[in-house]
Amino acid sequence: MITPQRFFEIVPQNLNMDIRSELYYTNEFNFAVAVILSAQATDKKVNEVTPALFRIAPTPQKMLELGLDGVKEHIRVISFFNNKAKNIIALSEKLSKYENSEKWAFPTKYHSRAELIKLPGIGQKTANVITNVLWNAPNIGVDTHVYRLSHRYGWVDDSANTPDKVESELLKKIPKKYHDIVNHVMVLFGRYTCTALRPKCNTCPLFKYCNFKHD
Ligand code: SF4
Repeated sequence: MITPQRFFEIVPQNLNMDIRSELYYTNEFNFAVAVILSAQATDKKVNEVTPALFRIAPTPQKMLELGLDGVKEHIRVISFFNNKAKNIIALSEKLSKYENSEKWAFPTKYHSRAELIKLPGIGQKTANVITNVLWNAPNIGVDTHVYRLSHRYGWVDDSANTPDKVESELLKKIPKKYHDIVNHVMVLFGRYTCTALRPKCNTCPLFKYCNFKHD
């Protein structure tokens, strides 16, 4: 059986990659923008457009100067780009009163999920990822990989049928010392090894403990 303890003891050292977000970003503002863009889009796709966008518009002020049409032009290949562009402009309007530097950072009042979700375009999942990646907050962003693996390994039962319910179960079951890496490790493991279809069981470090494995 794959227990949370066993998973987090074994998987991080076997990932062979940095345990961090794969999204490209250069400061805290554009990390938030990248997370907004990544909803229902792959990190890879987002990373195709963000280097050019962030070169021109690294701060809320510069994003406003680029304008709605300019943002749309840069992110046109990303799903739901119209709505996402509107959200990015609304977020920029809200944050434009703060510093205007390439090292843009959120004022500390936004270092909490409760404050972040008051900002345009930032829902619970986005806020979880932002607080977790930028400030190591023990929130667990439950995306498709975290959701699937939690069910696959039996860490949550069928009644955990929303990301919020899965997150609250995981916070109880996964030892606290791992909370700040849960999202990264599960996303990377779910993306490259324990994939939805044809998981790579023959090279999996959890093979001998797994009840779900395929040949
Ligand atoms: S053995 Fe296969 S199903 Fe089990 S954890 Fe590894 S990759 Fe996933």
